[in-house]
Amino acid sequence: AKAWTLRSHFVSFPKDSDFELKEEELPAPDDGEVLLEAVFLSVDPYMRPYSRVKMKEGDVMIGTQVAKVLESKNPQFPVGSHVIGNCGWRTHTLSDGAGLTPMLSDWPRDQPLSLALGTIGMPGLTALYGLEEVCEIKPGETLLVNAAAGAVGSTVGQIAKIKGCRVVGSAGSDAKVSYLKELGFDEAFNYKTVGSLQEALQKASPDGYDCYFENVGGEFSSAAMPLMKPFGRIAVCGSISMYNDTTPQTGPYIHSHMIFKQLRMEGFISSRWQHKNEVSLRRLMAWVQEGRLKCREHVTEGFQNMPAAFMGMLRGENTGKAIVRA
Ligand code: NDP
Repeated sequence: AKAWTLRSHFVSFPKDSDFELKEEELPAPDDGEVLLEAVFLSVDPYMRPYSRVKMKEGDVMIGTQVAKVLESKNPQFPVGSHVIGNCGWRTHTLSDGAGLTPMLSDWPRDQPLSLALGTIGMPGLTALYGLEEVCEIKPGETLLVNAAAGAVGSTVGQIAKIKGCRVVGSAGSDAKVSYLKELGFDEAFNYKTVGSLQEALQKASPDGYDCYFENVGGEFSSAAMPLMKPFGRIAVCGSISMYNDTTPQTGPYIHSHMIFKQLRMEGFISSRWQHKNEVSLRRLMAWVQEGRLKCREHVTEGFQNMPAAFMGMLRGENTGKAIVRA
């Protein structure tokens, strides 16, 4: 068994030497335990900020995977079945079942299991809950989403289209912008080449925005806030532009817009609505099956490439969900 550990805490952007690959010896499962083998592993933005607050140097990197049950002394998880587990960056895991979720029992044969880490998993749920529970989005409204070609963002935009909204998205390359158009976004632009963000946002929706699904933070947030319509809602999902900062960014004060337009801005973590997950995953699955929700994946081959996949995702190399095939 192999595991990637955090050799040293990240300072600014992560680098190869911050990670260390270690060998682990695993005993055979005891009563109630299972031995798992990773099939697909997820690399996600939250691992960067969480590494600082949830991990010590030497710990195995945190993370979720789709794993196959190799040996089992737990009737809930039979040999050969697949589970979603918080196992960290490990090829093999001995588990007592805590933190394991069985795959949806009626997972369609024609859909890859890796979608359980993306559109039909935590990122998909994040998109759905941010739109429905936080933004309370309504048909006919205009939505802005950034990091729009990523796992969460591309799902946000497509669900908003399903709900009859006008959708504006931004992403970091022209190829990603073309992808957003393919997905049915009404307007999309490359934030890296656009010059003035505020002008681009204004041009994309001269009447402003009812809802803003925030994945990026920092400068983008400062540019978008003045363009919110009265009673607009902002779902603060992430702030990836700030995750590698060593000194905090400062920006213009936005309070006046919050007050005079009576905006509502709310941070959220998708696990708040965990009790709805099973129903929500089935809704996402149905949209995927109907072809209304497209899910692209950016797959890196090989467990040995976990750090490269993670750093590549932070750099924006992925279109759709960043996944590693073990
Ligand atoms: P993505 O698949 O969107 O991958 C990250 C993307 O972020 C990159 O592809 C890159 O795309 C973009 N990015 C990186 N650096 C910057 C930057 N400086 N400015 C703007 N964009 C940048 O990841 P996810 O979909 O998994 O996550 C998207 C956001 O949602 C993150 O902020 C994440 O932390 C948050 N999140 C929050 C959850 C919650 O429960 N609150 C749950 C899951 C995710 P590009 O080429 O466009 O720059």
